[in-house]
Amino acid sequence: MSLLKNLRIKLLTKPIFSMILAKGLLPSISETEKTALRAGDVWIEGDLFNGKPDFKKIFSYPYPQLSDEERHFIEHEVEEVCAMTSDFEVFEKRDLPEEVWLYLKEKNFLGMIIPKSYGGLGFSAYGHSSVIEKLASHSQVLAITVMVPNSLGPAELLLHYGLDEQKNHYLPRLADGRDIPCFALTEPNAGSDAGSIQSSGILFKDENGALKIRLNFEKRYITLSAIATVIGLAFVFKDPKNLLGKGEDLGITCALVDASLKGVNQTKRHDPLGVPFVNAPLIGEDVIIGIDDIIGGASGIGQGWAMLMESLSVGRGISLPSTSTGGTKLATAVASTYSLVRYQFGMSIGKFEGIMEVLGRLGADTYLLDSAKTFTLGAIDAGAKPAVANAIMKYQSTEKFRQAIMGAMDIQGGAAISRGKNNLLAHAYFGAPIAITVEGANIMTRTLIQFGQGMIRCHPYAYGQIIALEKGDVKEFDTLIFAHITHVIRNGFRSCLLGLSRGHLHRPKENRSTKRYQQKLSWASAKFAFLADVSLAVLGPALKRRESISGRFGDILAQMYMMTATLKRFKEDGELKEDETLLKVAMQQGFNEIDKAFAGIYQNLAGGILGLPFKVKGLCSKLNPFGSVIQDKDLHTIASDLTQNNEQRERLCNNIYQGGRMGELIEATYAMQEAKEAIAKKKRKEPLSKDEQQLLETALIWQKKIVEVDSYTKKEYFRC
Ligand SMILES: Cc1cc2nc3c(=O)[nH]c(=O)nc-3n(C[C@H](O)[C@H](O)[C@H](O)COP(=O)(O)OP(=O)(O)OC[C@H]3O[C@@H](n4cnc5c(N)ncnc54)[C@H](O)[C@@H]3O)c2cc1C
Repeated sequence: MSLLKNLRIKLLTKPIFSMILAKGLLPSISETEKTALRAGDVWIEGDLFNGKPDFKKIFSYPYPQLSDEERHFIEHEVEEVCAMTSDFEVFEKRDLPEEVWLYLKEKNFLGMIIPKSYGGLGFSAYGHSSVIEKLASHSQVLAITVMVPNSLGPAELLLHYGLDEQKNHYLPRLADGRDIPCFALTEPNAGSDAGSIQSSGILFKDENGALKIRLNFEKRYITLSAIATVIGLAFVFKDPKNLLGKGEDLGITCALVDASLKGVNQTKRHDPLGVPFVNAPLIGEDVIIGIDDIIGGASGIGQGWAMLMESLSVGRGISLPSTSTGGTKLATAVASTYSLVRYQFGMSIGKFEGIMEVLGRLGADTYLLDSAKTFTLGAIDAGAKPAVANAIMKYQSTEKFRQAIMGAMDIQGGAAISRGKNNLLAHAYFGAPIAITVEGANIMTRTLIQFGQGMIRCHPYAYGQIIALEKGDVKEFDTLIFAHITHVIRNGFRSCLLGLSRGHLHRPKENRSTKRYQQKLSWASAKFAFLADVSLAVLGPALKRRESISGRFGDILAQMYMMTATLKRFKEDGELKEDETLLKVAMQQGFNEIDKAFAGIYQNLAGGILGLPFKVKGLCSKLNPFGSVIQDKDLHTIASDLTQNNEQRERLCNNIYQGGRMGELIEATYAMQEAKEAIAKKKRKEPLSKDEQQLLETALIWQKKIVEVDSYTKKEYFRC
């Protein structure tokens, strides 16, 4: 070590080190939190956090494609099961029809993630996601029922951590539906704070001297639990007699519990907003299992929390983004076709600027969300486990879906409010808050995970410094803190120079058609990285509790991620002229959100004298924003494309089920478009040719059909 460095450590680093410890500035992170924070790995979130994203590298990441087999499955089996399912009847009967259950099992829908060698379909994350997306565009119940066995649960855990005997026994049974799984983590006093579960497993020796576990559990909100035959159970494992010689507390452990065992109570149900997928409490009293039932056997003891966090960090990027994108595409397709067909004040409502504004935003959001979903799945299929990107996807996709469904319902008016076979939106609307709550409730995901986990995992130096402080390693701390200081100075300069030049000083290496967006994203990233460090310096460990501040940082990171993914899609699709406005509006929306978040940070980061420089910076930021007002003409262009350009609408809302009522909306749209000239002539009171008359009549029949809403006799209404 150089003399200079030694001197630096002695005179500067050591006093700083001691001061941080003495003043309690070292953020306290429990082991449970550390495990959650360490789950997964860092992908392009790291580049965005670093303040200098390399778009050339980012754009070179693989983009997923469906295999022939996956495509065939989606075009045949998925199509078939959608055709077999009437979503309205599922709600009436409060279950999927028996033949649908059988079909799902027979065609291995419940084993998409299970490799072929175990009898599953062995689909990629993108293939599996595309199946869920299409199912969700037709029936949320169908999608959730298929999604759950393919997400965090027995199959996923066995694949990663199971013993060979466990895999050989369960995976073929899960693949063909002989076993129905559920995964039980949540409890009355352990929701978002899942690490505080109280369900227990006590180790004891039975009369034959064999080691057994006595389980007592009270779980709630467990999807599929009332019909599950195998329960993936998380419990706190205790060995009060120290039979294993590892002490009394063995930690959170996951086991597979045969639901037919004595003491398992599956008799009750929850009613999640009337959406009739199986969701229920699950109680166990003195349920006895063997030590071999622990996932991973003896080596799985105490590993449950790590297993769950690791799997959850990947799953967040697949399941809910798929259902949400399917629901968003449905909302956009329904709103666009209905807008063309529905007439008020003598014209198609799609021509009213108020409607066009909503349609334009729906189109841009669908484009953005589908891009981000696909990009993330590409990373997962390439072997990455991007924890922060997946949390961003979970939060953003479910929020976008909620907004999209509300926008589409506003457009449909009464037709979206009256439940029945003709209403494609109401049931999706009921499902939106469910997606918000599960797999990390959204408020927590926004305020704690996106930025909090990002700061620890994606920041190039923060976590290393914490560990060095914990270990009392002054030398390591010295290396990291000086690298950190250099990093802050670099980002400070970059942020300033890019701000002064409005991003123009950044020279993109490729993909020049999106050059301006790349420049602004580079500028946003530098500013974000610099301000994140400044906030850390100002607030210290308190930043963790200042969730309104960290939530805004999370918003900025999320927008940058989604926008980067959208640029990637534009490139992958061949930079299509017809997508330019979608891209433009999606990017403008994102930059506007970034401006809002920065303004909130500057305004609220600190009070009094300390806060003054930030308020001044906030004012400068306002004068030099990233975003700009979204022009009406752009929203109108997207809206016209959605209502008039069938190819463009179908490309944007691809992979949705087009049978049933959706098929009728599409047919009606075609009929109205074909009769366009005839309708105009009729309006002008000009005579129509025979063909035109025919086209007009057909269009009017379709229009009448689409305008119809369901109504019921008293007997039907009261379901007597
Ligand atoms: C329909 C449905 C299906 C489900 N399926 C399953 C399943 O199959 N298996 C399973 O184990 N669980 C399941 N869950 C449970 C689900 O994961 C939990 O509901 C979720 O973890 C939230 O817990 P909670 O509902 O108790 O809310 P709480 O934890 O009580 O949260 C209440 C609010 O506080 C917020 N919050 C909590 N902590 C923080 C924080 N630190 N900072 C900011 N905000 C915070 C949350 O975001 C939320 O808005 C399901 C839930 C539902 C509703």
